[in-house]
Amino acid sequence: MKSFTYERVTTPGEAAASARRNTGAKFIAGGTNLLDLMKLQIETPTHLIDVNGLGLDNIDATPDGGLRIGALVRNTDLAADTRIRRDYAVLSRALLAGASGQLRNQATTAGNLLQRTRCPYFYDTNQPCNKRTPGSGCAALNGYSRQLAVVGASDACIATHPSDMAVAMRLLDAVVETVNPDGDERKIPLADFYRAPGDTPHLETVLTPGELIVAVTLPAPPGGTHVYRKVRDRASYAFALVSVAAIVQPDGTGRVALGGVAHKPWRLEEADAQLAQGAQAVYERLFASARPTADNAFKLSLAKRTLASVLSEARA
Ligand code: SF4
Repeated sequence: MKSFTYERVTTPGEAAASARRNTGAKFIAGGTNLLDLMKLQIETPTHLIDVNGLGLDNIDATPDGGLRIGALVRNTDLAADTRIRRDYAVLSRALLAGASGQLRNQATTAGNLLQRTRCPYFYDTNQPCNKRTPGSGCAALNGYSRQLAVVGASDACIATHPSDMAVAMRLLDAVVETVNPDGDERKIPLADFYRAPGDTPHLETVLTPGELIVAVTLPAPPGGTHVYRKVRDRASYAFALVSVAAIVQPDGTGRVALGGVAHKPWRLEEADAQLAQGAQAVYERLFASARPTADNAFKLSLAKRTLASVLSEARA
C-alpha cells in the first residue's frame, strides 16, 4: 500500500475544505471497497478524509411524504428500518441480497452507490484495463467476460456496476444530494448519476472532484407489490449475474430495473410503459441495444426468464 495521510472531519464544510486543500484526497466511510483497492494499489489516494464523524446517519421524513437517508446510514440499518421495510420493501430486499452481514454493518449508503466494478481484470494490475489505467486497453473484451455487461457498454469497457442497493434506488427514483468544496449543493436524480463508459470508463459518475454525497432522498412511497430477485452463481455473498427489481400496481402498471447487466442499474421508462403488455415486451425494450459477448450471451435469456418470473410473482 502507498503511504497516505489521514484526518477525521466533523462537518461537511471541513470535509469540503480538506478536499480543496488536498489534491488526490478521497473520502472514506465504511471503507469496504476502498481499502481493498488501496491494498492492491488500484486506488492510491494521497490523503484520506474520514467522514464518519459528520453525523449523516439519520433517516428523516421529508415534507412530501418521502424519506431522506443520510449518506452514512449503514446498509444493515437501512434494510431494517421499519419505514423502509413497509413502504420501500424492494430496497430492503435488495440490501439484504448484497454482500454479507458483516459488510452490511460497515458499508454506507453513499459508499454502496460509489463502489467500483468487480470486473476481474480491473483487480489484476498485470492486465490492461481502461477503467484502472485510461488508454491501456480492455482485457475483458477478448478475455473472460461471463460476469460482464450485455447492454450499455462500449468498445473501451464492458464492466457492470455491482450494487444491489443502487438497482432498487433507481427503481424508486432516488435523488442524490451533494455538496462541493465551494459549498454548492445539488440534487442529482440517480437516473443521471452514472456516466456511460464511452471512451472514458474511469469516469463513473457525474460527481466533480471533492464533491461529497450527504444524503439520498426517496419520493413518497410508490405503493404496489415489490419484488427483488437476484440470480447468482451461489446462494450468498456473490454478485448478481442478473437481478430484477420490480414494483407492480394492482392495475398492472409498474416499473422494473435490472442489475448485473450494465455499467449502472438498467431501467428504461419506455420499457416500464410496456408492462401491461407482458414480460416479453418489457424485455425487448430493455435489451434492444444489447451487445453480449460469447461468454455472457446467456444473460439475455436469463434476464428474460427472470423478468417473466418476477412479474408473474408480483402480479400474483
Ligand atoms: Fe477494465 Fe472495463 Fe475492460 Fe474490465 S471491462 S478490463 S473494468 S476496461
